[in-house]
Amino acid sequence: MNENTNGRTVALVTGANKGIGYEIAAGLGALGWQVGVGARDERRREDAVRALRAGGADAFGVPLDVTDDDSATAAAELLAERFGRLDVLVNNAAVAGGWSQQPSTADLAAVRLVMETNVLGVIRMTNAVLPLLRRSAAPRIVNMSSAVGSLTLQSDPEAFTGPASAAYGPSKTLLNAVTLQYAKELSDTGILVNLACPGYCDTDLNGHRGTRTPAQGAVIAVRLATLPAGGPNGQFFNEDGPLPW
Ligand code: NAP
Repeated sequence: MNENTNGRTVALVTGANKGIGYEIAAGLGALGWQVGVGARDERRREDAVRALRAGGADAFGVPLDVTDDDSATAAAELLAERFGRLDVLVNNAAVAGGWSQQPSTADLAAVRLVMETNVLGVIRMTNAVLPLLRRSAAPRIVNMSSAVGSLTLQSDPEAFTGPASAAYGPSKTLLNAVTLQYAKELSDTGILVNLACPGYCDTDLNGHRGTRTPAQGAVIAVRLATLPAGGPNGQFFNEDGPLPW
């Protein structure tokens, strides 16, 4: 359990106004943590904060567009002013970029938006709050990835990895690669950085075709957010265990 001596654990979940991010916020709130709901739309953010609070979570809103430098900086400033540190960052916000995404007919604007959000957004947000994570007694970063980002699975004709994709799948492959580099750079800091695959969940992202609930998808993220000291670093998990890269 991630507990600091100077107050309750503080977490920020990006893209927490709905779907799996909302359920991650609920799961961390149920631990008694103070949970920042990072979301770009004010009404959706405040509705989520209200619902989380009604469920007993100590949730607060954090205006955040992960594609915007100033927004990421302002979110970090809000956390610095309010808590002076951050214990857990869950980089959950992502876009699919529309389906289908056959490479031969790819809309480059859509590919660019997916990469900007799902990859650069994670780097931008992580770097904005890294000074605050360094002040935590047990800092953790959880990056929401997907089995479709696994090159091992993508190159296995027997594995179910969805249709050919030039944007979403590759964005998660790149996110996996970037996460490994963070784990390498931060390996002597106590910050544990890991990747979570929630499984195929029923959310807006896939037009509600997923078969798992968003709450089921949140389980692995909560587990990685609460890793004990000396836990895994730079690894890729779903609820059942490690996934192939
Ligand atoms: P979702 O329901 O579409 O929710 C995505 C969240 O990201 C929303 O809150 C959305 O906010 C937010 N977001 C998008 N762009 C943003 C931006 N620029 N700035 C801030 N927030 C932004 O998706 P989900 O299915 O819950 O996905 C959550 C995570 O799990 C993602 O990383 C996804 O890739 C991953 N994942 C999902 C599945 C699945 O089956 N659902 C499978 C594997 C991995 P708005 O409401 O403002 O759009």
